[in-house]
Amino acid sequence: MKETRVRYAPSPTGDPHVGNIRSAIFNWLFARNQKGKFILRIEDTDQARMVDDGIQKQKDALNWMGLNWDEVYIQSERIEIYTKYAEKLIDEDKAYRCFATQQELDDLRNKQKAAGKITRYDGRYRNYDLDLSQKRSKEDPFVIRFKSPQEGITKCYDEIRGEITFNNKELDDFIIMKSDGFPTYHFANVVDDHLMNISHVMRAEEWLPSLPKHVNIYKSLDWEMPLFVHLPMILASDKTKLSKRHGATSIQEFINEGYIKPAMFNFLVLLGWALDDKTEQFTIEELINVFNIKKISKSPAIFNKQKLDWFNGKYIRELKSDEIAKELDLFFKNSINIKNYNIIKKYNFVDIANMIKERSKTLKDSLMLSEFIYNIPSFKSKEEVYAMCDDIDQCSYILKSTIDCLNKIDDFNIETVQFELKNLMEELNLKPKNLLGTLRIVITNQKISPPVFDCISILGKKESVNRISSALDFI
Ligand code: GLU
Repeated sequence: MKETRVRYAPSPTGDPHVGNIRSAIFNWLFARNQKGKFILRIEDTDQARMVDDGIQKQKDALNWMGLNWDEVYIQSERIEIYTKYAEKLIDEDKAYRCFATQQELDDLRNKQKAAGKITRYDGRYRNYDLDLSQKRSKEDPFVIRFKSPQEGITKCYDEIRGEITFNNKELDDFIIMKSDGFPTYHFANVVDDHLMNISHVMRAEEWLPSLPKHVNIYKSLDWEMPLFVHLPMILASDKTKLSKRHGATSIQEFINEGYIKPAMFNFLVLLGWALDDKTEQFTIEELINVFNIKKISKSPAIFNKQKLDWFNGKYIRELKSDEIAKELDLFFKNSINIKNYNIIKKYNFVDIANMIKERSKTLKDSLMLSEFIYNIPSFKSKEEVYAMCDDIDQCSYILKSTIDCLNKIDDFNIETVQFELKNLMEELNLKPKNLLGTLRIVITNQKISPPVFDCISILGKKESVNRISSALDFI
């Protein structure tokens, strides 16, 4: 049997969109399931749309997702190959040079528009003399166009949709090589899928209208076709195409918002694929075992942000604390300034993970819950400090007693801290508001923070006592 070889073929024109990464995930899972190869092909032939770091951004997104590739190709390094095949097509009268100037094409367009016709190239160089064309090519700029069939139909086959036919009257003589010498997407894509022995082309549904062009190129070169699998569209909850106005759309934005890999992976794989009508949570290993093209759906997938949040919170709760600790470390490093990161780094990320696990949907929530670690409280007035006490004397007394109480704890952890502080509260006959409310102020002074016992145990004895002492000195 033929080896399974699939590819992810991004154009490096910006931050990878979640839809692209969904395609990458499907291809990667299929390759791994079939013990085949996953190929990364950078389609950078549209030089005008390239962005700096575009290639690196794609690689970073794949790496973050854990989608390792077996081979990598960059189309801009393969121009000679496409040129060779385009010339072969010219020699065989299956493609031709077109010397129409931009002005000519604009005029044509305007005329067609004015006459209420569909605007498209009219084939004016289709039958141009080959010798003349050869000669002129030395002096004049030109593009190479594909001689599309003008009659009949083009039959295409998609693994999910079955046979799809296109009327050849609708096809135009599209460009395969541009005047800058670069191939167009359609041409380079087909040549490479062939030369790279791609067995399955799995890509977004938006490419389906291009399929007859591709099929005709395969036929003209007498090449066997791969199997085509067009993945369903991704729509936002309002059933329109997922776009910027719905919020984050690039993987990087989701990373910045604190989504973690297993949740993102699990969520994205369910956009257009399902094992059955009940199983929702999968590890990546499980997905490799069960992933199957037959289960890809035809109908659009809805990008349900609430579900992503739910997955993310669930994974944060369920992953081992040391795994979450690693995620937190990386996220904090990238999200806060170096001074604050250096402070937080001194604390144990596993303890922080335990503290945030039940309370965060995203790592951004976790960061908010952890801000008390580096935002050391400072006060403008004494009233702020004793706001939860009957008066300032009660406040000083509480703070002094707490310092003594904490100092006496040998094995300093959340249980012992909680136990001793509750004892203290009983002994001194204090209301929770008096003791815990006041401690919350002097330890965190944050609107959002975890319960004060957690904060004290994370900060440890020394830092907690320091904060309480500073407040005591202040009043
Ligand atoms: N370069 C195209 C893209 O960015 C690839 C489409 C395909 O997989 O054929 O989507």
